Amino acid sequence: MNDKQFKLEYIKCPSCKNILDLSFVNKSCPNPLCGFSFEGLEDYLDKDDGWLHKALVKAYKGKNECEVKLLATAVRYNIANYLDHFVSCNWGSHYTTLFKDFIILYLDDLNALKLVLSSDTIKIGKGDAIASKNGYKMFWELYKWLMRVHSPQIRDFLRTEFPDYYKKYYKEQHEKIMRQKITAKNEDQARLI
Ligand SMILES: [Zn+2]
Repeated sequence: MNDKQFKLEYIKCPSCKNILDLSFVNKSCPNPLCGFSFEGLEDYLDKDDGWLHKALVKAYKGKNECEVKLLATAVRYNIANYLDHFVSCNWGSHYTTLFKDFIILYLDDLNALKLVLSSDTIKIGKGDAIASKNGYKMFWELYKWLMRVHSPQIRDFLRTEFPDYYKKYYKEQHEKIMRQKITAKNEDQARLI
């Protein structure tokens, strides 16, 4: 799954968010105000998703903040691969796991998203896939998943890049809220009766 096609050429410092080339994998962040040490990161870059998730849970539980940051850096480095696999994987439990363990929280790099959306991972002519003016590809099911990603930058891109899908999405969300309100109201009335 760690496909070379979607490897990023950089890492992002988890402390100061500076983008660094891969020569820093064994060093410290060059930002004099930061100096975060990347020692141990190189090993993590090639670990698979299952391993990284287990290690992250363990580091969270142990409140090992430095370890969490190192592991999160490795997850972000591989995020385009995870997204690619999420789109192409037919095994429901694997792709939903990839989404909830990694993509929803760690997909915050527009470059990684663009890399996958402009690749052959999504094929025009298959299902309801469309291409935006800038050549990024998307289909409706994927759009709904990706709109759940926490990063506002990612959702802003999806909103402006695929305006028709956004309208449809917005309408569905609005209807869902209205339905919930009606149900709540009916329940209130039922209680009064
Ligand atoms: Zn830094």
